[in-house]
Amino acid sequence: MWNRLPLWAKILIGMLVGVVVGIIAVSTGIGWFVNDWIKPFGLIFLNLLKLVAMPLIFASLVTGVSGLSDITKLSRIGIKTISYYLVTTVIAITIGLLLVNILKPGKSFPEEKRIEMMEMYAHDIEGRKIAVDNIKSDGPLQFLVDIVPENIVGAAANNANMLQVIFFAILFGLALVIVKNPKVEVVKDFVAGLNEVILKIIDFIMQFAPIGVMALLAGLIVDFSGDNVSDSLHLFATLGLYALVVIGGLLFVALVIYPTFLRLFAGIRFADFYKTMFPVHLVAFSTSSSAATLPVTMEQVEKGLGVSNDVASFVLPIGVTINMDGTSLYQAVAAVFIAQVFGIDLTLGQQLTIILTATLASIGSAGVPGAGMVMLIIVLNAVGLPVEGLALILAIDRPLDMLRTVLNVTGDAMISTIVAKTEREIEYVPGMIEDAE
Ligand code: ASP
Repeated sequence: MWNRLPLWAKILIGMLVGVVVGIIAVSTGIGWFVNDWIKPFGLIFLNLLKLVAMPLIFASLVTGVSGLSDITKLSRIGIKTISYYLVTTVIAITIGLLLVNILKPGKSFPEEKRIEMMEMYAHDIEGRKIAVDNIKSDGPLQFLVDIVPENIVGAAANNANMLQVIFFAILFGLALVIVKNPKVEVVKDFVAGLNEVILKIIDFIMQFAPIGVMALLAGLIVDFSGDNVSDSLHLFATLGLYALVVIGGLLFVALVIYPTFLRLFAGIRFADFYKTMFPVHLVAFSTSSSAATLPVTMEQVEKGLGVSNDVASFVLPIGVTINMDGTSLYQAVAAVFIAQVFGIDLTLGQQLTIILTATLASIGSAGVPGAGMVMLIIVLNAVGLPVEGLALILAIDRPLDMLRTVLNVTGDAMISTIVAKTEREIEYVPGMIEDAE
């Protein structure tokens, strides 16, 4: 019976069990049991996903690039990918800004709550400020310098350096295409074989996914509610409107903007797209990390949507690092929300600065939990808002992070599908493509 269930159903059951276990543990006071005996399995699942991320990027990107017979195609795909990513990010931010300006969630925020929360979280904010101070002292071209690693082993040792490994893999793949020496064929075959092996490992890991997400969610509920459930509920009530604006924006992008893009540029029905993406959504939601979700995204986009490995291996890893529609939308909403709570009116120029800096900040955010919030400091600094305002939104950042990660991975998958379609690099999957040609 269990074996016959599709993957998404198994993961969904895992999530539900995790929530139930978490709630029971919190209400019976045995949160320690979850922390000691259940949560570790969630961390193991997370580690497994992270473990394959780097080898997967390297092997699949080298195979993808070396499989493209002409280099102009690569640069065309590159330009298309980055343009689509930028356009969707700017649209997402604009939607966030419109919603937060119309609904004004920060205007009704009680003054005494503001003071209380800022005192409560002052300490947490300090650490984040120091991290960003280091970024700020860099020159304007530092981001280019950061893309080029000085040591590939060092770069591959840290999952936050994905862009560096992508850079090396593209360089490696390009050289493989250009060198016409029979000896090079061995290298090509080796990397292609490595790619197959990694994909098999991902299959193994996904067998473990239901247990992994169960443990992650149970642990999260225990962590989140701490000892006092009523405190957490109270917090939700205070920040409810802000959370609703973020969630409303995310839903609007997912259910209106993406379907429009899919229909216009790829001729794909969004119901078919979302059906394939469902397991990816569940993993993104449970892990809060688009980088950790990458192996699953890759598998679904290739197997479910029929996107060629050449395109998926190029477009998706780049998306994980630079395309975060959910994160950028959230950053725009959060910045304006903080301004509203502090009674600061933002000019049009400042709102435009938010569009620019939130785009850059989401490009700079790594696909790991909480990264978007740290980079939000850059947006706040750019428009002269008090960084201490982060204290207001810190408490409910994790659930919003889970949701924005879902949008982040959906955006990557959508653009890879569109790029594949326009490059004729997508296979016909029955019932999926309404062929526009
Ligand atoms: N957790 C997000 C991601 O991995 C990034 C963020 O918004 O914090 O995509």
